[in-house]
Amino acid sequence: MAKRDYYDVLGVGRDASEAEVKKAYRRLAMKYHPDRNPDDANAEDKFKQAAEAYEVLTSEEKRQAYDRFGHAGVDSNAGMGRGFESTSFGDIFSDVFGDIFGGATSGRSRASVHRGADLRYSLDLNLEQAVSGETVEIKVPVLSACDDCGGSGAKAGTRPSACPDCQGTGQIRVAQGFFSLQQTCPRCRGAGKVIKNPCGKCGGAGRVEKRKTLSVKIPAGVDVGDRIRLTGEGEAGFNGGPSRDLYVQIEVREHAIFRRDGKNLYCDVPISFTDAALGGDLEVPTLEGRVKLKIPSETQTGKLFRLRGKGVTPVRGGSVGDLLCRVLVETPVKLSDKQKQLLRDFKTSLAEGGSKHSPQESSWFKGVKDFFDNLR
Ligand SMILES: [Zn+2]
Ligand SMILES: [Zn+2]
Repeated sequence: MAKRDYYDVLGVGRDASEAEVKKAYRRLAMKYHPDRNPDDANAEDKFKQAAEAYEVLTSEEKRQAYDRFGHAGVDSNAGMGRGFESTSFGDIFSDVFGDIFGGATSGRSRASVHRGADLRYSLDLNLEQAVSGETVEIKVPVLSACDDCGGSGAKAGTRPSACPDCQGTGQIRVAQGFFSLQQTCPRCRGAGKVIKNPCGKCGGAGRVEKRKTLSVKIPAGVDVGDRIRLTGEGEAGFNGGPSRDLYVQIEVREHAIFRRDGKNLYCDVPISFTDAALGGDLEVPTLEGRVKLKIPSETQTGKLFRLRGKGVTPVRGGSVGDLLCRVLVETPVKLSDKQKQLLRDFKTSLAEGGSKHSPQESSWFKGVKDFFDNLR
């Protein structure tokens, strides 16, 4: 489903101020809040859309990215499968509704210092890497504190000054009806500081995007959807706030031979119809190399052979899985005239034995006969 434009979702113009965005979101959130609309999936959906739009449009970086690149700029799922996603949804409620209640939820302490965002990194592994585990290096673009200004956003040698509107508190009081309410200061957006001479490198943001090389230890047995948390390797905070975490999300590429289901591996092994009839030793692949598999005579196509302990050791512990080889009996092709004649002779010889050479075919014909007999 195509995502709706965030500005449309909130019903605000593209030049809407943060206060307008907040106001629009508050109105929608009140209207569609799940508590007020129990069991209304449509309302819940609208509520989520509004929350998402709010989250993006109130973050300076995300809003810029969204304005430039649309949804692709803020949502890694729209991209190539390898990417980043911010997951700092956490505090929307206290952020918006805290204002309504005079900032009573967390008050002034919230000004100035903010945490960064959690990041998600999709790591593509092949099956062998996922099964045996290894240490891989990943390059992660993360927002880090700017070197030039030490993260303050102010030009070297200068310092941010206290915001004249809120005197550095990040909050202002607004009279509304009978109440005097506290709101986030619109001039400094709650930071409590204004920067007169912004740092040339980060443009006053205090943070710059850097590529960080991290080495990630992949435990043996991981599977699609497993996550590895790297504490403190997410975005740097604002103004010295704490860094968030980086989540490495495991993806496993399809394998040419093996298919994995939990701790078991599956593979198809083609065999000739002569081997299937006479039996014999087959070489089958396992993740650790080739092994011999004894095929009994009169093996039918589709039969599964279990190689115990040749599967995957689960990452959360437990017994090792098995490898299940499914034999597929192959019809020979490109036969010479001589081979064709041998098969015709062979067919004649089979016919002399009646139906006893074809157990499935004879039971199938019997089933068809019973089916038509029952119709009468
Ligand atoms: Zn201010
Ligand atoms: Zn800077």
